[in-house]
Amino acid sequence: MDEALRKTLHRDTLAVREAVERSPYGENSEALYLTSGYVQPSAESAALRFAGDEEGFTYGRYGNPTTASFEQRLAALEGAEACMATASGMSAILLMCLGLLKAGDHVVCSQSMFGSTIKLIGSDLAKFGVESSFVPQTDVAAWKAALKPNTRLLFAETPTNPLTEVCDIAALADLAHNAGALLCVDNCFATPALQRPIALGADIVMHSGTKYLDGQGRVMAGALCASQEIVTGKFLPILKSAGMTLAPFNAWVMLKGLETLDIRMRAQSANALALAQWLEAHPAVARVFSPGLPSHPQHALAMRQQSGVGGAVLSFEVKASSPEQARARAFHVLDALRVLSLSTNLGDTKTLCAHPASTSHGRLTEAQRQAAGVGQGLVRVAVGLEHITDIQADLARGLDTLP
Ligand SMILES: *Cc1c(COP(=O)(O)O)cnc(C)c1O
Repeated sequence: MDEALRKTLHRDTLAVREAVERSPYGENSEALYLTSGYVQPSAESAALRFAGDEEGFTYGRYGNPTTASFEQRLAALEGAEACMATASGMSAILLMCLGLLKAGDHVVCSQSMFGSTIKLIGSDLAKFGVESSFVPQTDVAAWKAALKPNTRLLFAETPTNPLTEVCDIAALADLAHNAGALLCVDNCFATPALQRPIALGADIVMHSGTKYLDGQGRVMAGALCASQEIVTGKFLPILKSAGMTLAPFNAWVMLKGLETLDIRMRAQSANALALAQWLEAHPAVARVFSPGLPSHPQHALAMRQQSGVGGAVLSFEVKASSPEQARARAFHVLDALRVLSLSTNLGDTKTLCAHPASTSHGRLTEAQRQAAGVGQGLVRVAVGLEHITDIQADLARGLDTLP
């Protein structure tokens, strides 16, 4: 497709059309190139390609045409110049940190980020001399106060898992840039269907493709979207030596997932909003966390930042008088499910329910868990495409019969 025409196309069109050129066979669906190596046209070309002075694939760890199609398509949806796919969301974060940071550098993160992100940056990277501070997600003043002369990266996730806290991306981008740092946003929950952080000033968008990009719970994947300079200058050299490369088959699944991302996100978010309203009125529920609800503390910001849509993940707290009772009641609700899945994943067309305090946030210390606001009575629901009446009825099974 020529560049002039491509520039006129809408994102919906790019979601199904943007990819590397068709092979000479003219396949309509994107080709799946399962190959770990590539035959070189000449020794001279091979030398130039390995040196990065000629276009062309050399080895599976460095790149693959199917993976490149997924990278191009995701970059187009995020409005980024470039994208680098990785084997998982966590390996995308590792790649970003290895590419951008060195011993003595400092990172500021939200304290309510994904559990493994807190572990990776707060503990694992600390062993290599990377300092970190964790601040309340929604408090811009706290982000500002945490900045140090050696701060190189601000890392936010919005909405967060599992409490759906929303931060102001444009405000954090300004803070980062004034401090000479970069802002990365984990866009896993909103996806580019609802939220495009680069247009709001973020430098890097990180994805766990495992979630909504695939959308049907099949494979693991991750990605970093950024400028060409960051992707080829900072990330590619690390990918080549460290090898957190996305498998071509998984890239192909992602590529097909992106084609239906927009309609899935809108349909699942509509189900989530209806479920949130129903839960808010349920007598056994103490509180519902969902950006689509007017009761959400950052509702107005979320509507502005996320195309007027709250997203498909919500959490709710069962009423209880002690942490022990809260845990027992949350377990009761989960064990009563007969249609929905008890599963710690999210981003599937099947509704998935989980108890974050004992699973995704189970490896955190009690202090870290409390800072993240993940109590024992909290249940997370990643709402899928089942009929809303069936979703409500399945949760009512436990909520209406609490011990
Ligand atoms: C799942 C998840 C990750 C990690 O991604 P994996 O693909 O599981 O490695 C990071 N951030 C968020 C918000 C997630 O939900």
